[in-house]
This record gives sequence, C-alpha cells and structure tokens, in this order.
Amino acid sequence: MNALELLREAEAALWAAKTPAEVEALRVKYLGAKGVLTAMLKELGKLPAAERPAAGKDLNEAKGRIAAMVAQAGARLASADLDRRMKNETCDVTLSGRAVPIGRLHPLTQVMREIVDIFARMGFDVAEGPEIEFEDYNFEKLNIPKHHPARDMQATFFINDDVVLRTHTSPVQIRTMLEKKPPVKIVAPGKVYRCDSDISHTPMFHQVEGLLVDRGVSFSDLKGTLMAFVHAFYGPRTKTRFRPSYFPFTEPSAEVDIECVTCRGAGCRSCKGSGWTEILGSGMVHPQVLKNVGYDPEMYTGFAFGMGVERIARLRYGIDDLRRFFENDVRFLRQF
Ligand SMILES: [Zn+2]
Repeated sequence: MNALELLREAEAALWAAKTPAEVEALRVKYLGAKGVLTAMLKELGKLPAAERPAAGKDLNEAKGRIAAMVAQAGARLASADLDRRMKNETCDVTLSGRAVPIGRLHPLTQVMREIVDIFARMGFDVAEGPEIEFEDYNFEKLNIPKHHPARDMQATFFINDDVVLRTHTSPVQIRTMLEKKPPVKIVAPGKVYRCDSDISHTPMFHQVEGLLVDRGVSFSDLKGTLMAFVHAFYGPRTKTRFRPSYFPFTEPSAEVDIECVTCRGAGCRSCKGSGWTEILGSGMVHPQVLKNVGYDPEMYTGFAFGMGVERIARLRYGIDDLRRFFENDVRFLRQF
C-alpha cells in the first residue's frame, strides 16, 4: 500500500464513522505509535536510496492530512450531536408552569403562636420542657402529693412509678424556678397527655401556661395581665369575669370566662344558655409550690395561668369535634 491508497482508505473510514469512539479508534489505527503510518515509515529503509526522499515526503504529507481529517470527523459528529439535542430537547417557554402545592400552618399552631406572641409583647419569655416528665415535677412539687384527690382530675399515662407523660405544662414552671431566682416571667407552650378520648378529649392536646413571680405581685396584676390578653385576642370590648375555682397549685384560684362569642351574652346552645364561656384557669402561686423550689414565700409572690389551645381554637372557628384537628384531612386543614 502506498501513501495515496492509505489516504483514500482513511478518508472513507472516517466518513463512515458514526460516533466519537469510532473516530478515536481510527486515529489510533492510522496515527498511533503502533499504527499503520508508523509501520510504513519504518519500512522506508528497505527502499532503494533514490526513492526514499520522495516516499518519505508522501508519507509525511499523508500523516498531516489524516490528522486533519480526524479533527474534521470529530467536529462533524459533535455538530450532528448538537443538532440532534436541539431537536429533541426543545422546551416551550410559553407553556404555563406547574403549580407547586404550598403547605400552611396547622390551625392549632397558628392559635398557639398568636397566644404566645401576645404574652411575648408583654415581656414574657418562652420556656419549654420535656414531654416525658418526672412524676415529682408533674405532681409532687406542684402540691399534688400521692393519693391527693386532685390526681384523679388528670388521668395519667405512667411510664414507670417515677416518670409520666406530662399531664399539663405546669412542670415547666417548676423547672424554670429550680433553675433561676425571681423575677420569673415565662409562657410555656406545648403538648400534654391524658388517658382520655371522646368528642371533646384527645389523648394529646396543647396548653399555654404562664408564670410570673417577683416581689409584690398581686391578684390585680393577674387580672390586668389576663384582661390585656383577652382584649388582644378576642377584641377590646370583650367582657370577662373571674369565677372562684380550685387548683392544688394556686391559692386563691380563679377560672376566667369571656362573654359567649356565639351569642354575645344572650344565651345559646354553645354556652348552655349562660352567656359565658370558660377560657382559662389561673391563680396566685401556692406558697407551698414556692417553698418546693426554694423560693421564700414571705419575700416573693406570683401568679400562674393555663389554657387549652384546642378549646380556644374550637371557640374561634366553631368546631364541634376536637378530633378533627388530628385527622390530618387536608380538606379540613385548608380552611384555615
Ligand atoms: Zn352563647
């Protein structure tokens, strides 16, 4: 084979190549260190001396042209590949987009945040505690000793004799007071647990609890704080009343009613004709509770209050069945 024949063969092969890998294989075949051209250059020595210079020149020219054809074939395939991609991967920028569904806050989260925000504006810090709690913090230190009838008010999930699922957020008060000296001014939002399930009870529900302890705190401070909350949450003209009540950890204790939001006090089915709706429990911190955390009740006084978030959300949105909040039905949840 002479240089011209080699050139023709290489040209035909490169035109027939359909992929960059084929072109590369041909480059190795003709131009590689063990390729056809290298072998032919080695054969030059066998030619008669007079023919060598012309044959060597031909082969070197062929080498240059084959290299150029390899580059050309590579470029041809790359451009064909681009054409194919342009054809297959077109995107119509005028098509309308696909809407990505956006989540929203659960109604209970919304209500709980709103409650906490109102107290935060009054200078209360947010405190949190564990949902699995020492029985001692959940009951004992809150002045609810073993065999006290008040324990029956809260059907409790026991983990063992000393550990419970907290039945209220009040142990956060104990934890906070054990950690720091007065003044204490906190709200504690969170989940609580009781063995109870029907139309108005679920085994898990939410509370927001508040505690303020300092020198000279009086019942009028409690009243003022809760009235400010009611006016911020339910509107400035909402009527309230304080009703004497009993909680083991406060003395005196009071429940707070607001004018029924459905009938505005006239009496209806949802307020059982009374015109009032209970929204929270409160009172002055019991001196024994202060002693239990090492505070001197002669020096410090305080007030505490607690409310059920589900109850407040139900009143606001007029929801009969509490369990709806936890069924995760998006048709229900989308309404808020
Ligand atoms: Zn009513």
